[in-house]
Amino acid sequence: MGIREKIGLIRAYIPADDETVEALAALLERQEALKSRYSQSVGRVDMEAVRGAIAGGKPAISAAGLWLTEEEVAEGVREVASVVSEHIESESERAGGVVRALDEGILNLRRVALAVLRGDLEEAERAAGEAGVDPRALTSLVAWALQPALAALSDAVMGAVDLSSWSSGRCPVCGGYTALGFMDRDGAFHLKCQFCGAEWGYPSGKCPFCGNDEPRLIGSADLGEGKPLVLNICHVCGNYWKVVDERISGTSVPRSLYDLWTLVLDAVARRLVA
Ligand SMILES: [Zn+2]
Ligand SMILES: [Zn+2]
Repeated sequence: MGIREKIGLIRAYIPADDETVEALAALLERQEALKSRYSQSVGRVDMEAVRGAIAGGKPAISAAGLWLTEEEVAEGVREVASVVSEHIESESERAGGVVRALDEGILNLRRVALAVLRGDLEEAERAAGEAGVDPRALTSLVAWALQPALAALSDAVMGAVDLSSWSSGRCPVCGGYTALGFMDRDGAFHLKCQFCGAEWGYPSGKCPFCGNDEPRLIGSADLGEGKPLVLNICHVCGNYWKVVDERISGTSVPRSLYDLWTLVLDAVARRLVA
């Protein structure tokens, strides 16, 4: 079953029109293809160093650094830009501007990629300004291109490194926070990174953002009986996280689609928090 058929299984949950869902499906499909290409490059990453970083409570990326070449980042950016140009008319011009700047050789994408990985949006904006391209388009395209590379790293790390000692709510691979988790069929809870897809065990009912685990300070809402999606809200830090209960859902929907599947919970959270 391809990604489009899988999306078909959860279509009814996605609060977006067909055109948007089609654009998302095309992007996910392209990222899937990029991930298998990037998985070759992960061989350059020193897994021993990654193991040491994780044992010391630091994410894999702190040891891996940005292992991609300028050309490899550019390849990803061109691929996702072509999906954007084809499917999102309103963004087509801005994405085209980034590709033209690439053609002219006036963009240093590794610099932007490092800034995006550090969460340093000002640096990314400076790079966009110097090249005369739209800053939001540039950071989105670079982030969408990095995502499959980090997903490839994430698969490699999960295959090679024991993550059972990782106790943080931040991702052991990319270091980002996540607002997504799942209860597996045996009733064990795991967080799942929304950026790179890494999965790690975490106490159920504990806020991934601030660590609050006081039951009366965590609210929750579901979508009705028999629905496998649950929203948790932390009354200490005000953040929320989304949970897929696989004891109810089974496993026909791949975990790579859980963030998309639970978009409806983001909408509920916005209403509750607002
Ligand atoms: Zn991650
Ligand atoms: Zn919290």
